[in-house]
Amino acid sequence: MKRREILKTLTMLPLAGAIGNSGSLVTPAQAAPASKRDLFKEFGIRTFINASGYFTSLSGSLMQPDAADAIRETATSFCRLEEVQDKVGERIASLLHAESAMVTAGAFSALMLGMAGVLSGTDQKKVSQIPRLEGSGMKTEVILQKAHNDGYAHALTNCGVKLITIETVEDLEKAISEKTAMMYFINYQSSLGKIQHKEWLELARKHRIPTMIDMAADLPPKENLWKFHDMGFDLVCVSGGKFMRGPQSTGILSGKKELIAAARMSAPPRGSNIGRGMKVNKEEIFGLYIALEHFINTDQEKEWKMLEDRIAVISKEAASVPGVKAELIPLPLINRIPTLNISWDKSKIKLENLAAVLRNGNPSIEVMGGPGGSINVTSHMLKKDEVKIVASRIREELFKSLI
Ligand SMILES: *Cc1c(COP(=O)(O)O)cnc(C)c1O
Repeated sequence: MKRREILKTLTMLPLAGAIGNSGSLVTPAQAAPASKRDLFKEFGIRTFINASGYFTSLSGSLMQPDAADAIRETATSFCRLEEVQDKVGERIASLLHAESAMVTAGAFSALMLGMAGVLSGTDQKKVSQIPRLEGSGMKTEVILQKAHNDGYAHALTNCGVKLITIETVEDLEKAISEKTAMMYFINYQSSLGKIQHKEWLELARKHRIPTMIDMAADLPPKENLWKFHDMGFDLVCVSGGKFMRGPQSTGILSGKKELIAAARMSAPPRGSNIGRGMKVNKEEIFGLYIALEHFINTDQEKEWKMLEDRIAVISKEAASVPGVKAELIPLPLINRIPTLNISWDKSKIKLENLAAVLRNGNPSIEVMGGPGGSINVTSHMLKKDEVKIVASRIREELFKSLI
């Protein structure tokens, strides 16, 4: 056969790999339309009831149904990506009391792109130089409080900057120099730092240094979405795939107009920049927008009460077993969700690892491990009919283990 004929014959065959593997010409893709297939089952991937929370390793949160619809509906047309970012960004900004906003590939990406924007401004040459700051004329240092130096600050150092950690106002004044690019703040760690939001902003203003706050997981309350803009932070970073229940791979960078314009120069569709690998397409941008709208319009008092009621069901069931204690843990700033700790008297109940027992049970249930072999349970990722299942499975295992 001539080469052209061989190629023609090959393209007429179903996927070549499928023949070798199964000896059948029917590829799995031809067996049934995707919508009729249970892909988790097909791949042997465990699904579970999530009484743990929105963790990246547990595939985040489940999208708002409206957001998933928006993804499906916008997947079938073309448009210019820049126009989507412009127009959806403008709408998001107005909801957030910000001058401007962009959708990013998660809060980590918001931190990184925001940092890049602060460093480069709209200078294309500088954009292409990040993270090689030396000799570029860009500033090279970011100041933050020691207690705010969690692992996520890696997003900033990806841009080539050095982190300068300080504790007191005096330290801060000493650390500021012509190299200082930005002053960075993490909301959930604020109680551990000596300098609070307002003072941080006053000091930054005094020295004319841009500020950024990471509040990735600090919803609810929804007011946090605009609180930090109202306070005066120049850039605010939040996750779209946590309590907001947008696509797991989205986040929002919002703030000063010129900084968002600069950050976008390091993001797709543009290439030759540090953010090219953090693409968010139109579907995800629309999906996030719909989730944000939904989140803002939700009656949060009512939702909170629902979360507490669900926890009460689980709490009551667990505590009905002799020797079991079930109590709400104090609310932190991050992941501010009603969380139930369930512990038991080891002399009455012989149960080593309840979290593993629940994971390996049927249906599989994920809970968090708590102190001393106890478990922590949340209710915000549960579907309505799962609350009772979680409650009765926990009771069942504790009851069975009574000595
Ligand atoms: C989750 C989180 C991030 C990262 O957010 P993604 O949306 O997963 O990229 C950053 N900072 C803090 C404090 C977080 O909790």
